[in-house]
Amino acid sequence: MRRWGEKPYYSFNYYLQQTFGCKVYKVALNAGMSCPNRDGKIGTGGCIFCSAGGSGDFAGDQKCTITEQIEQGITGTSKFHANAYVAYFQAYTNTYASVKRLRAIFTEAIQHPKVAAISIATRPDCLDEEKIELLAELNQVKPVWIELGLQTIWEETAFYIRRGYKLSCFEDACSQLRKKGLTVIVHVILGLPNETKEQMLATIHYLNHQDIQGIKLQLLHVLKGTDLALDYEAGNFQVLEEEEYVSLVVDCIERISPEIVIHRLTGDGPKDLLIAPLWSTRKMQVLNEIHHELKIRNTWQGRILEV
Ligand code: SF4
Repeated sequence: MRRWGEKPYYSFNYYLQQTFGCKVYKVALNAGMSCPNRDGKIGTGGCIFCSAGGSGDFAGDQKCTITEQIEQGITGTSKFHANAYVAYFQAYTNTYASVKRLRAIFTEAIQHPKVAAISIATRPDCLDEEKIELLAELNQVKPVWIELGLQTIWEETAFYIRRGYKLSCFEDACSQLRKKGLTVIVHVILGLPNETKEQMLATIHYLNHQDIQGIKLQLLHVLKGTDLALDYEAGNFQVLEEEEYVSLVVDCIERISPEIVIHRLTGDGPKDLLIAPLWSTRKMQVLNEIHHELKIRNTWQGRILEV
């Protein structure tokens, strides 16, 4: 069986160890951005699942400078004994600002001596030529990763979740970023309302054929204060059961191209906001079950590569 270190898939930790040769940890930052899907440029309600914190509920305090947030993140994770850090611009849309402002915040992060790379969560419709030039320039200093929240390839689902851009927009942004040598990581949500297992696996299959370097698999969380919560409470859809999710994630791992780093296999929503599924708060248990299922199936990433 093919292995990447101890795991039968190309894990993020393995990638970090191979790339930087030391223990690397992520610090999540809040640069005080907004989002065009919230401020009225594209929409006002945001993506249907997005919390008031702009999907950055674990990020730093936007009242602090980027350097202060990095320092706080380093202190808060000192028990993990990391030697270097990825500065993760997580909350809201992190390229939705002027190039001047983006240059200032990203440069501040990159110049921190303990930062090995920066990772920027954004939307593909917020990446124009000038911004991509800036990112490419910074990528010459330290690695710059761009995280795109695609979630699904299905336009009906994209419409339901109010993603606010077409698949072709994602493809264009991906291609522009890759032309400039930037690393692209794609977020996928598993368990979106009305999507079948076959549709979710089709999203994985599609991504195998795109020039992407990383993928984050995320379980759909229903959070307080979102329109998704209203739909859930009205009984319009059900969330995945734990066994269903574990089986589905392993189905995905079997299909993800072995060249693509798997950055995340699940996620734990903020406990004070999480409505469902509550089992997801036991993150370590879920990860153990995924690894157990991988063992039972005697499987590895890239085993089932559809052409
Ligand atoms: S694009 Fe991101 S920040 Fe904006 S509403 Fe959607 S999930 Fe939230």
